[in-house]
Amino acid sequence: MEKPPQQKKGTKRLIRIQKMSNQYTPSKIKAMAQGKCPRCQSGKLFCHNAIGTHFMDMHTHCPVCDLQFEIEPGFFWGAMYVSYAITCAILLILGGAVLVIGNNPDFWIYMAIILPSFVLASPFTYRYSRILMLYWFAPVHFEERFARKS
Ligand SMILES: [Zn+2]
Repeated sequence: MEKPPQQKKGTKRLIRIQKMSNQYTPSKIKAMAQGKCPRCQSGKLFCHNAIGTHFMDMHTHCPVCDLQFEIEPGFFWGAMYVSYAITCAILLILGGAVLVIGNNPDFWIYMAIILPSFVLASPFTYRYSRILMLYWFAPVHFEERFARKS
């Protein structure tokens, strides 16, 4: 009987790594955190990064799969409610932290900590409210055929 040719040690591992690199493992949480398109999880939603004056600029269509992000006219109006919820959560958490850590300080200390935090967090609140709106309330789901495999 003839034995099949023996593979060198490590060849199997190399083949497994090559297979893994060709597969795309979708991660909804990672795509949301990075601000990627919900359908291909490859194209960016926003034109620029969150730090800067153009943090609101958003692509109308996905640069990879051409999905129109505004699913219907006024779709992102709903993001205001998401933004409101996120802002309230931030303010309540910060207010609670100031209350506990500062042992109920004066009112101006609350304002001195909460107001700048609110302003600094607004680009992220704006972006993530839109991202959550797209991922949770739009009838769009990940489709592997649109994913950029690189
Ligand atoms: Zn896309």
